[in-house]
Amino acid sequence: MPVLFVGHGNPMNAIQKTEFTKGWRSIAESIQKPESILCISAHWETKGKYITAMENPETIHDFYGFPEELFNVQYPAKGNTGLADAVKDKVTNYKIEPDYKWGLDHGCWSVLVHMYPEADIPVVQLSLDRNLSPEEHFKFAKELSFLREKGVLILCSGNIVHNLGIINWRKPDSGDDWAETANDTFKRLISAGESGKLCRYDTLGTEIQLATPSPEHYLPLLYALSLKNENEEVTFFNDKVVFGSISMCSLLIK
Ligand code: ZN
Repeated sequence: MPVLFVGHGNPMNAIQKTEFTKGWRSIAESIQKPESILCISAHWETKGKYITAMENPETIHDFYGFPEELFNVQYPAKGNTGLADAVKDKVTNYKIEPDYKWGLDHGCWSVLVHMYPEADIPVVQLSLDRNLSPEEHFKFAKELSFLREKGVLILCSGNIVHNLGIINWRKPDSGDDWAETANDTFKRLISAGESGKLCRYDTLGTEIQLATPSPEHYLPLLYALSLKNENEEVTFFNDKVVFGSISMCSLLIK
């Protein structure tokens, strides 16, 4: 299976048809239908590593101040306890605990409602362990590569440029200069396979620091890049910065 990193952006994408939701849909149509999905979302951070292990994960509306229509969205995909067990068993260098309380957060379902609206593919989420450094996340992610041979789509969901503190509502369709620069820098380093530099992103200058005021929306990218095999290519899509400070840039690795 290919690996995906998606910029999920505003939760409102879930109930709108935008150029981005169309991009997610057409990527889903362009790849083999997965047997299951493992999602690594910016919106589930924990101390330690957890994997959702319930049969019917809840649709979590983990945001405030949005229209009721968005709170009414349900994504009734089943979980996959066999997949959760397989990840726990196969990943021997790290301890992964089963989780029965989380579910699917909007980093996951706001994208999947467009990719697979029938919700007929089981979905499991893996948390982001706050205790790990970026390099450790990158190393840990490699342990998940066996899933790609088993029909599992690994969906990494965040935003490579994500600064809500300096969002610019007057620029719905473009980025501030620093954000465009950061987006271009990330794309250049991704294309050049500069994973080491991408793991040490805090050393890459002011624009990148502005793009990553906290790590959680960036880290899912490192999972996707870690899972890339040497002979594979990266294709960018939805490559656009919006509201001054949010990049929707997404990538397909296959
Ligand atoms: Zn988010």
